[in-house]
Amino acid sequence: MYAFSYSNPRTLDEVSAASGQFLAGGQSLIPSMKLRLAQPGAIVDLNQVDGLAGIRVSGDQVEIGAMTRHADVAASREVQAAIPALAELAGGIGDRQVRARGTIGGSLANNDPAACYPSAVLGLGATVVTNWREIAADDFFQGMYTTALEEGELIKAVRFPVPRKAAYIKFKQPASRFALVGVFVAQTTQGVRVAVTGAGLSVFRHAGLEAALNQSFTAAAAAAVLIDDSELNSDLHASARYRAQLISVLTQRAVDQMLSA
Ligand SMILES: Cc1cc2nc3c(=O)[nH]c(=O)nc-3n(C[C@H](O)[C@H](O)[C@H](O)COP(=O)(O)OP(=O)(O)OC[C@H]3O[C@@H](n4cnc5c(N)ncnc54)[C@H](O)[C@@H]3O)c2cc1C
Repeated sequence: MYAFSYSNPRTLDEVSAASGQFLAGGQSLIPSMKLRLAQPGAIVDLNQVDGLAGIRVSGDQVEIGAMTRHADVAASREVQAAIPALAELAGGIGDRQVRARGTIGGSLANNDPAACYPSAVLGLGATVVTNWREIAADDFFQGMYTTALEEGELIKAVRFPVPRKAAYIKFKQPASRFALVGVFVAQTTQGVRVAVTGAGLSVFRHAGLEAALNQSFTAAAAAAVLIDDSELNSDLHASARYRAQLISVLTQRAVDQMLSA
């Protein structure tokens, strides 16, 4: 490690007055610092800030505070009842230790191309609530490790509309359990949304699958969609063609799961 200053504010006003890189669960930031991929001069620890953690369900909305740990989302009876796919997604992140420390706010701010939560936020058409504004999911994820957040902007919570049905199916990268490919399918009041993680530079919606499933919500309709692999990731774990095949198969499985639920 190297020298950096550290502050641990207790209130949102104190967070606003501080400057530096936010520390949430540390599951991405600390390894990056160890590898010198990130070298912040100042750390602002969010772990003691009042009011940033917690789950509130009201009517057709589920709001999850930024500092809510993955394990708490997975174990929440309210999330399990309102959006079971979201609770299952959180319960499938990494391992027990990662789920005990990692937070939804940290995951979204980090926007790892293979992270699970971004697909739920995009697939459900959620809203990211910051200390300055509200950002629609369609505008939030902007590229590899890049979001609409500005310097010093803090995610306070995420607001999910409750869908009619949803499912998240992930094909795990076996060493890390990140998504080699993950597909989140939701039947929302605005139609079917399909969000794909792990396959591109950042999470993305698949227009072809959405159009097909809006016409006919069946696995056969998803299977008939040709998945273009020209802009998909290719690395030592999987070729672009393999990832394209996974997008198709995982979408079909998600649809089947939703139809049988
Ligand atoms: C072994 C391992 C396996 C993993 N497997 C998976 C997996 O299967 N699926 C998956 O989705 N993820 C996985 N992760 C990542 C994990 O979910 C992390 O918790 C997540 O990426 C970062 O959350 P964090 O709370 O630890 O954030 P931190 O590491 O503390 O912060 C990450 C970044 O977000 C910023 N930040 C944090 N909170 C806020 C906020 N409220 N507002 C603005 N910026 C903020 C920080 O400044 C930093 O830049 C894995 C991680 C590890 C180490």
